[in-house]
Amino acid sequence: MKLHEVRHWVFDMDGTLTIAVHDFEAIRRALEIPLEEDILDHLAGLPLHEAAAKHAWLLEHERELACASRPAPGAVELVRELHARGVQLGLLTRNARELAQVTLDCIGLGECFSGGDVLGRDEATPKPHPGGLLHLAQRWGVAPQRLVMVGDFRFDLECARAAGAKTVLVNQPENLWPELTDWHARDCGELLQWLS
Ligand SMILES: [Mg+2]
Repeated sequence: MKLHEVRHWVFDMDGTLTIAVHDFEAIRRALEIPLEEDILDHLAGLPLHEAAAKHAWLLEHERELACASRPAPGAVELVRELHARGVQLGLLTRNARELAQVTLDCIGLGECFSGGDVLGRDEATPKPHPGGLLHLAQRWGVAPQRLVMVGDFRFDLECARAAGAKTVLVNQPENLWPELTDWHARDCGELLQWLS
């Protein structure tokens, strides 16, 4: 199967479609946590009621924090192009599905993925388990071998291998896992060039 013939694409989110830009400084300011201290360690050391209140604040602001993510190079252009070509698009993340949806909306890709094709850690056994990919293949009515998984980490590649799907590694200057990789692109932008 050549890459431009693939009609079923599944993406990892964090580090693949987005670059995490957690606004840790804003969190520390809001929760009065010293700059040099680890946020979760700091909260763990607080009296219970204070820690609970601050954890509640974190939860409440998770949406805004999700929006601090920025699209990875070429990611928006690649996904929009694939969407325009009418291919099936899925997202498989170890993040929570709700936050994945918020993040996709924030980087302008919300409309490219159908709700049922976005799988978070509660919808599928987390990667490297192949369950999420197998679920999407079944949902789309194709053999898993027709799928390609695009990711930036070993778990993405292992998950695809275990499912029998093809793999694309992006956003890693060195390929540390050549035995797990079918294609290695610099980033989604280069991947898009290969498809044109
Ligand atoms: Mg990742």
